[in-house]
Amino acid sequence: MQSKFYITHLYPLEMSIYGDMGNIIAMKYILNLLDIEVIYQKVNIAQKLPYRTDWYFIGGGQDKEQLIIYEDLQQKKEQLLNDIKGGVGLLAICGGYQLLGKKFVTGRGEQVLGIGLFDITTQAPSSNVKTRCIGNLVEKCLIPELNQINLVGFENHSGQTNFTNRSKCLPLAKVIAGYGNNLESKYEGCVYKNAVGTYLHGSCLPKNPELTLWFIRNQLLRKNLSTKRLGELNLEISRKTNKQLVNKFK
Ligand code: GLN
Repeated sequence: MQSKFYITHLYPLEMSIYGDMGNIIAMKYILNLLDIEVIYQKVNIAQKLPYRTDWYFIGGGQDKEQLIIYEDLQQKKEQLLNDIKGGVGLLAICGGYQLLGKKFVTGRGEQVLGIGLFDITTQAPSSNVKTRCIGNLVEKCLIPELNQINLVGFENHSGQTNFTNRSKCLPLAKVIAGYGNNLESKYEGCVYKNAVGTYLHGSCLPKNPELTLWFIRNQLLRKNLSTKRLGELNLEISRKTNKQLVNKFK
């Protein structure tokens, strides 16, 4: 019987800007190459999380969308936190990443409560465009198994993200070019178990195939499925694109 892989897409109507849907397409493409059937589950406001998820995705969103969904996200907090603690994967991009932290304060001072999956807080300095972090981002990945590969993407956020004290999380990467979590720190993103938050739009995964494989490998191991074929995949186009973009923007 063909193996199944359950992807849950959180708030696809509100939180999927700058082509973030491409992350789900990238995951599905590689899983299908492995002859694994992807069960794609969309969860909108007022809808319950599915019984079964192997990998969650939440994309980026403008302040106004974050204000629309954050209270509903609190209703999903318990199951989300339990699933991540149990090793389920997750990718959160920009606005989605911010909402998985402890809180996000918008440029107009609106307080947006997060679910506290990541030990981060985010504050936008003001609502004028000049203080946004915008541009191509190149960085060295700090996930130990990924041996400092280069990650690349596009960032566009007002929020300045900082780790809170005694964080249980690690930064995803060290910035080579661009801003990252904030204007000063030179770190970008956040990792907790198999959950990653990042400012890499672009979409992230089509430009960073090794990160896609990391997510998939983790879940195949958790589901006691073989990871043997991962090393045989021909991801030449994606790998070449990553190298060209890194060389162009670093
Ligand atoms: N609204 C948030 C900010 O401006 C997130 C933006 C995004 O998702 N690109 O920081």
